[in-house]
This record gives sequence, C-alpha cells and structure tokens, in this order.
Amino acid sequence: MYAKVRKREVLIPFFSFLFLNLLVLFLWDKSITAQKLALQERVHNSGELLSQKFLSIVKNDIQSLENLKHRFEITDGDYFNFWEHDAELILQQNASFKFIEWIDNFMIIRKISPSEGNEAAIGLDISKVDYRRDEWVKHSIDGSMNITPWSKMTQGGHAFLVDVPVYFNGEFKGTITAGMDFKENLDAFAENLPDYSIEIKDENNSVFYTQNQSKIASKDFMYTNVLKIDSLDNQNWSIKVSPASASFLSEKSSSTNNMLILGIALSTLMSLLIYFYLRSRLETQRAIRANKKLKITNKKLSTQRNRAEKASRAKTEFLSNMSHEIRTPLNGILGLIQLVKKSDKTDNYDHYIDLMDQSSKNLLDLVNDVLEIDKIESGKVSLKETVYNPSKAITTLVSQFKDEFESKSLYLDLKSQSTTNFSVIGDEGKFNQVIINLLKNALKFTSSGGATVTYEESLVNNVVTVNIKVSDTGIGIPQHTLSKIFKRFTQVDQGIKKKHEGSGLGLAICENLILLMGGKISVESQLDIGSTFQVNVPFKISDKQLKDVNSLNDDISHLDFSDLKVLVVDDNNINVLVLTKLLEKLGVKPDYTNDGISAVKMANEKDYQLVFMDIHMPHMDGYEATRLIKENKPEVIVIGLSADVTSQSINKSITFGMKDYLSKPLCPEKLHKLLIKYFSAVTN
Ligand code: ADP
Repeated sequence: MYAKVRKREVLIPFFSFLFLNLLVLFLWDKSITAQKLALQERVHNSGELLSQKFLSIVKNDIQSLENLKHRFEITDGDYFNFWEHDAELILQQNASFKFIEWIDNFMIIRKISPSEGNEAAIGLDISKVDYRRDEWVKHSIDGSMNITPWSKMTQGGHAFLVDVPVYFNGEFKGTITAGMDFKENLDAFAENLPDYSIEIKDENNSVFYTQNQSKIASKDFMYTNVLKIDSLDNQNWSIKVSPASASFLSEKSSSTNNMLILGIALSTLMSLLIYFYLRSRLETQRAIRANKKLKITNKKLSTQRNRAEKASRAKTEFLSNMSHEIRTPLNGILGLIQLVKKSDKTDNYDHYIDLMDQSSKNLLDLVNDVLEIDKIESGKVSLKETVYNPSKAITTLVSQFKDEFESKSLYLDLKSQSTTNFSVIGDEGKFNQVIINLLKNALKFTSSGGATVTYEESLVNNVVTVNIKVSDTGIGIPQHTLSKIFKRFTQVDQGIKKKHEGSGLGLAICENLILLMGGKISVESQLDIGSTFQVNVPFKISDKQLKDVNSLNDDISHLDFSDLKVLVVDDNNINVLVLTKLLEKLGVKPDYTNDGISAVKMANEKDYQLVFMDIHMPHMDGYEATRLIKENKPEVIVIGLSADVTSQSINKSITFGMKDYLSKPLCPEKLHKLLIKYFSAVTN
C-alpha cells in the first residue's frame, strides 16, 4: 500500500528542480553570451589584423613601383632605358603585378611589360578613358600615387591600375603604372586564416578579393572595415570578415549545450534525490510515529489485558463465591424438605421450618444485595423521607439480634448515651439496613466475647447527627485490607478455604448508602482483638416528634381486619397461597384470581377495598388491570406485587394508579404495616 504523499514532499523537490534548472539555464545563457562576445572579439581582431595586413600588402606591393620611380628620379631619366628589365623582375617575383607600363605626359601608353598579350594597350590614349583621365591628371600634378577602381582591362581581365607619377629634370615625365590585383600576398596571408571568409570591395562595390566565400557560417559575427586607399580621391575599400567554419562556431556552443544537458540532468537528479530523501524522511517519521503508537497501543493492550485478566479472575472468584453462597442455603432448604417429606407425621417440624426460614432469608439477602449494589452504582437509589426515631430503631434492631448473638454464646450490649431521642426526617429502611449489616458482620466474625453498640446523638442548627459504633471482639481485619473492605466483592477471607459466608457486598452497600445520606463510615480494627465500625449520619430534625414505637404497636395490636374486602390477583398459585395465608393470619379472608381480565370483572361486581395486584401476568398485565379497575372504582386501593424492585417498575405502577408496592417474597411485617397504614382508621 502506498503511503499518502504530502504536498511538502512534492513541492520542495519541484521548486528545487525549477530553481536548479533556471540556474542552469541562466549559466548556460551567460556562457553562450560570453562565447558570442569572445567569438565576436576574435572575428574583430582577425578582421583588424587582416585590414592592417591588407593595407601593408598593398603598400609593399606598390613600394616596388615607388622604387622604380626613385630610380628614374635619381638617374635624371637615364634609368628609362633599364626600367623594363627591373619591371620584368618585379613581375616574376610578385604575382600581384599583371603588367607594368609607362604612360608619358601625353597620356599615351608607350611601353608595357610584358609586352606579350598586352599589345592592345600600346599606344592607348588614356585621356580618352573617362575613369582614368581626371584622376591621372590630378595625381600627376599632386605627385602622389593613384589607384583606379577595379577595372576591366583593354587587353582583358580585371585589375587595379596603380599610377606613380615620375619627375625628373624638374618636369613631370609620365607615370609608371602597374596592373595589380594584390591577390598573391593576400592569399598567402589568408591561408593562415582558414576559419574566416573574406570579401574585399573597391569603392564601386566591385568585389575584387574573396576567400572561403562559400563557407560563411554565420553573418552574425561579421567584421566590416573601411580601408582608406587614396585620400586625394577619397577612395575607400571595404573589407568583410566572417567566421567560415561551422565547427569554429559550434565547437564551444556544443560543449556549452552538453553542459546544459548535464546541468539539467544533474538538477533533475538532485530534485529526485531531494524528493526521495524527503519521502524517506517522511516514511521514517511515519515509522517512528507508528512505532510510538504501537508502543502506546501495546501498553494500553497490556493494561487492558491485565485488567481483563484481573476482571476475569474477579469474575471467576465472584461466580464461585456466589455459586457457593447460593447453593449453600438452597441445599439446606432442599435437604430439609427431604427430611420433612420422610419424617413421621407426628414429628415436630418447627425446627426444620426455622432452618428453612433462615436459609431462605440468607438467599434472599444475597439476591437483594446483588440487586441493591447494581441499583446504587447505576444511581437509581433515592432516599425516602419519613419521620422516624433512630434511637428507637437502634434499640429495636439490637433487641432483634440479641437472640442470635446469645445462641452463639455471645453478648450484644447497647450503650445509648442519648437522652434526647429525637425524631428525624430520613430513610429509616436504609438506615436500618446499614446497622443490620454491621450487626450481622459482628455476629459472623466473632466467636467469643460479643459486640457492643454505642449510640450518641447531638443537635446543632436543627440537624441531628447520629453516631453509632458497632464494636466486636472478633477476628479483626488486617491493616493492609482495611482500606479495601468497602469495595464490592472484597473479603479478607477469600477462595475455597474461606471460613465465613458472605458476598463481599454488605460494606460496599453500607458505604454507598451512608454517603447518599451525607454521612460517613469508618473502621478501626486489630487482628484477633476485634473491629469497630463507626457511622456518622446527619438528619434534619422533624417538627413532629413520634410517640414510642412500642406504644404504637400496642395501639394497633387490637385492630380487626376481618371485614376488609380484599382481592388477590396473581398467576402463580404458590404466591396466591402464601399471600392468602398471611392475610388470613391478620384476620382477612381474601378472594383471589389468576389473571387480570377476571380481576377487572370481579372488581366491577364486588366492592373490594383492597386489591393485591401482581404485575407480570399473561393476557392482561397488572398495570392494565389496575387502570381498568381504577376507571370504574377509583376508591379501591391497589397494591402492586412483584419481584421486580427496580425504580422504573415502582414508578410505573404508581402512574397506573397503584397506591403502594410490595416486593416478593412478601414480608409479613410489611404486609401488616401496610394494612395498618391504609385501614387503621376504618377498623378503629
Ligand atoms: P461479607 O460480610 O458478605 O463478606 P461485607 O462487605 O459485609 O461482606 O464485608 C467485607 C469483608 O470485611 C468481610 O468478608 C470480612 O472479611 C471483613 N469484615 C467485615 N466486618 C468485619 C468484622 N466485624 N470483623 C472482621 N472482619 C470483617
């Protein structure tokens, strides 16, 4: 899979490529320009040299004629008889000379050397030739050398005519005139410049000398110059010099072009290198990041694995503990049932029934604890606000537990340092639940001695702070586990060898409830000496201080519910039986039915005062049946019955018109209290 390329990784190499190529092009351009300039300079220098050389060749060639003239003058004309000999020598030595002639002062060509081939010129009167006459006369008077334009000769061919006026004996005698093309010496010199093409024109633009003309490579570098030949006639020749060899031009430019290609290749290479470097750096960074992430993930995974392993261990421990805690009372109950079945009808079952009762209660406590902790932790527990007397509640609880302690040969004392015994507003049920749990633990973990409950209360600003200590002389708790025992499913004694029953939920529930009430719970303990649990809870003081609980019980003990018209609705026959029997003990003779539809029908036919309504039933559930009953008989008190004790179910039942809610399994005391609550006024 290709990794995603970031803009930076492409843009940097791209701009490097652009920059390097521009640099290469710039340098290339500079070097081409420099080369051109160098070439131009070279052509110029060669042209200058050629111009000078040409003038010196012309001058040197003409010098031979000047020498002849001098000889005429020095010999006062005697030389006239010999000059032809010298002229022949000149003609032999210098191929630039085509002929040399003598033109007398009458402008007639008298002699010509070589005579052969030039016969046609002898006797020619040059005063008749337009281009000759005036210049010849002018220079004869001036005494200076004259050069004609490049001209066609009478005897054939082309040449410049060079006139050198000759004076002796004080008179002008004529001119030594030569037909010249300067070619030989120019060729000799031009041989050294094979890379140049040369073109020389006279003042009439007649080209009289060319070299390498067909090979002109470029006219861009052409050198031109004007050669002053005859100032008297204002006669100028022009010379053009150009590079003639293509290699002369291309040699350098091809190497520059090669450098350009090399430069572009190098910059491309460089950009690619940058690109790959950035890519590799990016990949490395990615790899490092991925590595880091991997390490973090690994760490997390290992933490989670450890947590999962711990959770799994805890779950296993919890399950095995729960299974033990559930199986123990169940086995007890089943075993006792077998005993009862097999025993003689005359046997007294009371003892078995008590044991079964105890086992069932243990089982119920366990289930309640598990449900309670779940409710607490999901924030679904709320506190009721009833008026009650905590001091009395403690007294009742201690007296209820006294027998159990004594049956283990343990003492249970209550030291109440309160004289006020305030009634407070709070959740009595939850408060009792905490104290019961502490008392149960004291009973469970103590084998000799006993437990002492200390009760104190203090009033500050209408707030009664209740302080309860439950101290036992039991096994104690090791210091290092003291901070953990309030965590759920935590037990000092764990595993299959544990000696004491329990789910490890009691103290967790206690702490959560106490915190919910705005109080605190703490523990102090010493191994093998004992433990002290201390609870501090603030309560609002009630305006209405309650009467003594016992006196209340006395008041209601005589109540007669035998006239109450009660209907029990439950699809489970055992539940119907249990509730019917419990009600009968309270003097009530209820009707019953197994489904909601017939319950509605019965309620319409008979004026029931109280209906116990199961929630979960086939055909028509308890909610719907209640709604229909209340539609016709709004005065009927409907009490919900269910093992589902979630707040949602309780709230729902209230919205459907139920007055109260009893959780299964039913508690006889709660049932009794409920009858008192709603019907004491009726029966009194
Ligand atoms: P359970 O009693 O069901 O095991 P608790 O949450 O009530 O659960 O108690 C947690 C643990 O705290 C107990 O298992 C026990 O190890 C320790 N504990 C609680 N109360 C006492 C006590 N009075 N004496 C000694 N140990 C106690």
